[in-house]
Amino acid sequence: MDKKFINDILAAYDIKNLTIATVCSHSSLQIFNGAKKEGFKTLGITIGGREKFYDAFPLGKPDEFIRVESYDEIFSLKEELIERNAIIIPHGSFVEYLGAENFLKLELPTFGNRKVLLWESDRKKEREWLEKAGLTMPKEIKNPKDIDKPVIVKYHGAKGGKGFFIAKTYEEFEERINWNKPFTIQEFVMGTRYYLHYFYSPIQDNAYKLSKGSLQLLSMDRRDETTIDEVQRIGSIKELEEVGIHPTFVVTGNIPIVMRESLLPKVFSMGENVVETSLELFDGVIGSFCLETVVTEDLEFKVFEISARIVAGTNPYISGSPYSELIQPNLSTGRRIAQEIKYAASHNLLEEILS
Ligand code: ATP
Repeated sequence: MDKKFINDILAAYDIKNLTIATVCSHSSLQIFNGAKKEGFKTLGITIGGREKFYDAFPLGKPDEFIRVESYDEIFSLKEELIERNAIIIPHGSFVEYLGAENFLKLELPTFGNRKVLLWESDRKKEREWLEKAGLTMPKEIKNPKDIDKPVIVKYHGAKGGKGFFIAKTYEEFEERINWNKPFTIQEFVMGTRYYLHYFYSPIQDNAYKLSKGSLQLLSMDRRDETTIDEVQRIGSIKELEEVGIHPTFVVTGNIPIVMRESLLPKVFSMGENVVETSLELFDGVIGSFCLETVVTEDLEFKVFEISARIVAGTNPYISGSPYSELIQPNLSTGRRIAQEIKYAASHNLLEEILS
C-alpha cells in the first residue's frame, strides 16, 4: 500500500475522534480493552457473527460491531471505516485469515509498518533479516539425507504448528513426510522456550534507546502445545512412536513466565538488533513484535521465528506483566498500542506509525 495514499486518507481524518478497529478474534479483547482505557472509541468487525460471545466480557467488548460474512468482505467496509476515522490494528488471525497479500492491499490506515509482511511471511527473507541482525537461528537442513540428529519438519503456511513433526533419522523423516507440501527442516533445538514480547516506538525516547526512538520489553510467555507438552503423561515419545502416535505442536494456550535476570541484557540487545536492521531494510518494525526463542543449556538464544504484531502470548497480561508493571501499572500490549496512537495523534506524528 502506497504510503502517500494512506497519508491522504489520514489528512482528512478528525484526529480528535479516532476509532480503534480490528477483527473480533484472537487478541481483540485485549486491543479493545486497552483502547477503551485510553479513551478511544472502538469498533469490532465480526466475521459471520460472534457478538454474543463479547457480552460475556463487557470491558473487552467494542462499542460497536460491524458484521460481514467473510474476510474478503472487509474490503467493502472501506468508506464506512474511513467515515469513523478508523485505525486498523492487525493481529495474528486477522493477517493469517485475510492473507498477508490481501492485508497489504487494505486501503485503510493500519497500525505498524506493513512492509514487514514481505519480510516476515517469507521464511527465506525472515532468516535474512534475523541473521543480518546477528541472531542465531536453528540450523536449516537442506537435504533430508543429511539428518543425523533430531530435526523439526515445518510445512509452509501451517497454522499454529499443525502437521509439524520431529524426526531423528532420514528413515523417520521419509516415513512421515508429505512430499506434496512445501516444507523446511530445522535442527530441533533442545532447551526452554521463551516468546518475548517487545514494543518499538520510533517516536518516543522514554525507554531503551535506539538510533531512532526506543524499545520496551512488555512481557513474555510460553506456549502450551498439544500434544508435545503433555505427552509424558502416558509414556515416553519413543514408546508412543513405536505404536504410531506422534507428538504434535498445536497451540492451545499461553503460560506466563519470567526469565532469569542475567538473560535480560541479551533480550534487549537481540530486540535492538532486530529493530536497527529492520530500519535499514524496510523503515522499521513498528509497534509490537515477538521473538520466538529457545534458550539452550549454554544459555544461548536460538530464535526460530518473529511475529511482527501483537501475539496471543500477550493475553495473560491484560492487567500488566512483571515487566510492564515496571514501566506503568496495568499496561498491556493492547493498551500500549492505544497509547502510541494517542501520543502520535497529539504530536501530529500519526504518519510515522501508520501505513
Ligand atoms: P506461529 O506462526 O503460530 O508462530 P508456526 O506455525 O509458524 O507458528 P513455529 O512457531 O515455527 O510454527 O513452530 C511451532 C512450535 O514448534 C514452536 O512453538 C515450538 O514449540 C516448536 N519449534 C519450532 N521450531 C523449533 C526448533 N527449531 N526447535 C525446537 N522446537 C521448535
